[in-house]
Amino acid sequence: MPDLVITNAYIYVDRGWEIPDGWIAVTGGRVAAVGASSEPLPEPVAESTTVINAGGKLVTPGLINTHHHMFQNLTRSFSPVVNSDLFTWLTTLYPIWSRIDDEAVHASTWVAIAELLLGGCTLSSDHMYVHPSPNLLDAQVSAARELGFRFYANRGSMTRSVKDGGLPPDVVVQDHDTIMADSERVVDAFHDSSPGAMTRVALAPCAPFTVTEELMRSTAEMAEKRNLRLHSHLAEDRDELTYCAEVYGCTPVEYFERVGWMHDRSWVAHFIFPSVEEARRMGEAGVGVSHCPSSNMLICGGAADIRKLRSFGTPVSLGCDGSASTDHGSMWMEAHTALLLNRFMNGPTAITAREVLDAATRGGARCLGWEDETGHLTPGACADLVIWTATPEAMAGALSDPVEAWLRCGPQHADTTIVAGRVLVSEGRLAHPGHSDILTTHRRIATELQNV
Ligand SMILES: [Zn+2]
Repeated sequence: MPDLVITNAYIYVDRGWEIPDGWIAVTGGRVAAVGASSEPLPEPVAESTTVINAGGKLVTPGLINTHHHMFQNLTRSFSPVVNSDLFTWLTTLYPIWSRIDDEAVHASTWVAIAELLLGGCTLSSDHMYVHPSPNLLDAQVSAARELGFRFYANRGSMTRSVKDGGLPPDVVVQDHDTIMADSERVVDAFHDSSPGAMTRVALAPCAPFTVTEELMRSTAEMAEKRNLRLHSHLAEDRDELTYCAEVYGCTPVEYFERVGWMHDRSWVAHFIFPSVEEARRMGEAGVGVSHCPSSNMLICGGAADIRKLRSFGTPVSLGCDGSASTDHGSMWMEAHTALLLNRFMNGPTAITAREVLDAATRGGARCLGWEDETGHLTPGACADLVIWTATPEAMAGALSDPVEAWLRCGPQHADTTIVAGRVLVSEGRLAHPGHSDILTTHRRIATELQNV
């Protein structure tokens, strides 16, 4: 018997597979079957089965976020630096972030995941690279588990402080051995490589200008030994090109190759400034890219050319980036912005709504090495899916193509978000009862951080 059935939906099952009027049945946290409304369900609906009539709405796989810094929602839209360049923005905020603790990280992660769920995201990575106190990843995993969210924690790190020619102050960096020991600890504690896992861990030194070459190499070796994924920022800013030339005597991509990261277990955020030849080499090696269009446009350092990256075979996904550089956590908005930005850059045939949706689903799964069971709704996949809704005014007249309408008319919100077969957002509201208490805690902590 199915645990849950969604009926009367336009179902985007996967790349090249759409059912204009259909149903989807979920059993044991997995997609059991999909079909057209004219076909019978393979098993009868039981009294205990939850039945949701989608009323013609679009159902898609849950969106996958491949780059975020959830703790930054404690300093969202922070007025002293809203008009600063990247390096000024970072050096102003590092001292504030140096005071976060496990309570702050738990609250910020909880709120960030709630926001992502309301925006139709069912699987997110989070690049947690500031560790002024121990066990912050533990607080993140705890928040994700409370909400029932599928979470890819990234054990971020910084070693190169101002005294070593880096950007961050001493107080937010850690030494090499501390980072490696804690990486082993969190992988042992939280990385679940089994099918249907709810928590996995990747290793994620922050950026070429914040860690030593030794740490990049050690991390790559540990990732290979333990079959883990690697993540970092790469080729994000022109200042990074200058920094790499002066410190390493090469470009960021040459550095990336030199430290042993050029393979298909790596994915990087931004990737705005490779040469054409470098982009081709990255694509051939299967290195994934998290495209963060809102962050690119707000930081004004340029934007990744994802049409070119896709032409080289690069797995391209979407990320909303840190909550203090993008200020929102809506993957729909990120997808919408990706459509606008890439058409603006490369013309009206640059990218279609379906290609953007594919990047936000299959592309995300590929970057996270999870394409076998996430990013699509084929039978057997994890039951991570969304029923979308917008105001009737926004959708009035959009009759010819539900997928194009989904990305162009909006804003779109999740009516229902389902993770592992569990309904976490229903009728646009978070199912978990604790959100108002967490928001109160979050406001207190954010006020304390911002007012010192
Ligand atoms: Zn970032």
